[in-house]
Order: sequence, then structure tokens, then C-alpha cells
Amino acid sequence: MIGDSAKLIIMTRSDQPDEIARLVLEVNDLTVSYGNFKAVDKVSFSTKAGEIFGLIGPNGAGKTTTLSAIENLIKPDSGNISLNGLDIFKHQIESKANIGVQLQSTSFQYELNIIQLIKLYSGLYNVALTESQINDSLEKIGLSHEAKRRFKQLSGGQQQRLSLFIANIHHPMLLLLDEPTAGLDPQSRRQLWDTIESNRHDGGSILLTTHSMEEAQAVCDRVAIMDVGKIIVSDTPEQLIETYRTDPRVIEVARKEVTLEDVFIGLTGGQIRE
Ligand code: ATP
Repeated sequence: MIGDSAKLIIMTRSDQPDEIARLVLEVNDLTVSYGNFKAVDKVSFSTKAGEIFGLIGPNGAGKTTTLSAIENLIKPDSGNISLNGLDIFKHQIESKANIGVQLQSTSFQYELNIIQLIKLYSGLYNVALTESQINDSLEKIGLSHEAKRRFKQLSGGQQQRLSLFIANIHHPMLLLLDEPTAGLDPQSRRQLWDTIESNRHDGGSILLTTHSMEEAQAVCDRVAIMDVGKIIVSDTPEQLIETYRTDPRVIEVARKEVTLEDVFIGLTGGQIRE
């Protein structure tokens, strides 16, 4: 949660210079360990304004750990992370105020209904929302009829839509989404993709993790493939396919036309991770 001082320093996207290639997030040589185990090993990447960037990798690759370091929930062994050029460890309040995180269901206050939750988070981020704006927003995310329900009383898709809405309530410079569409049916997934993309058009930067290569290919402008704590390659999905379509490891696993999933499995190996 952020305090009053953070409310004063939320940067809106319109405060930023209108440069297409402006870097929003820069991660340099990030290394994070749990005890003696190195979960993230010298990871570097950056996201640009208006970009949706995907971190993809098998179970245990280090994706969530990377997001946790960006959220400042874990102290890295070494490396730098900056948001809009500001070191997030030295400027923790500003960073927290300018990052939106899609919370897991357990993080929401269970005794509050949907409207109360929206009011709570808009208040925390000092975003003035009238009753009619809240109703319009609920309509937009298809939750008008659920306004008086509690979070736990929503379906999985409804929960994801609400938590995405709340994560973006203060129009943060950086939106972090950890497997935003996991477990959703195709309709809910498509609807959420549209919402994620509409946030992109606002000029913010979105960093998401996903196990769905279809999702990465459909939604992400660029992806980084992670495995055992390291980034193996990073590029646009189209360029990765183009670069690796003739790689013997990819040809071996491809079933028809080479897809991002074939490249992913070809480069990370077919064995199941523990
Ligand atoms: P998944 O796709 O399964 O969510 P991931 O890529 O997000 O995986 P992480 O959750 O970042 O991977 O985990 C990276 C490695 O760190 C794994 O080997 C995991 O077991 C280990 N790990 C994660 N959290 C902890 C922790 N709190 N204590 C010890 N080890 C941890």
C-alpha cells in the first residue's frame, strides 16, 4: 500500500515526453537468490512506452522472481532496476506509486464488495472517481450486475477483469501482470487481451508473464524467453520465429508451420520442469 506522500508524486503518462522509444523499465544484470539458490542470474531487459513485453519460460524459470524484484518485494543480490530513469531501490515510494500490479485473489479485502474495493484503491492512489464513473467502469468491464458482490463471489474471469481494472486505476507507467489469463475460457481470455491492449494504447508499458505461447504471440510486441534464471533470447515473436525456423532443435519439435511455441520448446528443451 502507498502512503500520502506517494499520492503527490504519481506521474501521469501525459507528463512524459512523447517519444516512441522512451524506455519505461530498465533491468540490468539482475541477480536474485533464495539462500544459496540463484533463481535469477544476470537478467537484463527493458520495456518501451506503449509496449507489451512478455516474459515467457518454463516453470521455475525465474519470471515471478523477476517481477517480485521489480515490485521491490525481494531484495536482489545485485543489479539495477530503474523506472523512467529512477532507481527503484533508491526511490521506492515513487516507484511503487507508478507501478500497477495485478493482485492475486487472496490479496483483496474479503469483507468489501466490488464498489467498496474500487473506492478503496482509487482512494489509495488519489484518483477521484464519481459514482457515475465507477458505474461506467463496471459496465465497461462487464461487472455492473456484480457491483454488490464480494471478490470471492466472482467467477475467475470476472476476478481477473476486476483485478486488472484496479491495477490500472491510477494509469501507472508500468503494469505488471503475472499470468493474467491463467485458467480463463477463450472468450474471457480474448476480452482480457482487448483490455490489456487498450492499456497499451494509453502509452504505458506492460510487462506480463504467460505460459500461453498463443497469448505471447497474439498480445506481446516483444518477448524474452527465460530458462533456469537466464534470458536466452529476446525479440518480437515474429522475428524469433523467423530467426529460429531453420534451427534443428526447432524443426525437430515443430508439428506444422513453425510457431512461437516450437521456438520456445526447441530452445528450452522438451523435458518437464519440477
Ligand atoms: P512458474 O512458471 O512455475 O510460476 P517462474 O518462472 O515464475 O515459475 P519463480 O517462481 O520465479 O519461477 O521461481 C524460480 C525458482 O526459484 C524456482 O526454482 C522456485 O522453486 C524458486 N523459488 C521461488 N520462490 C522461492 C522461495 N520463496 N524460496 C525458495 N525458492 C524459491
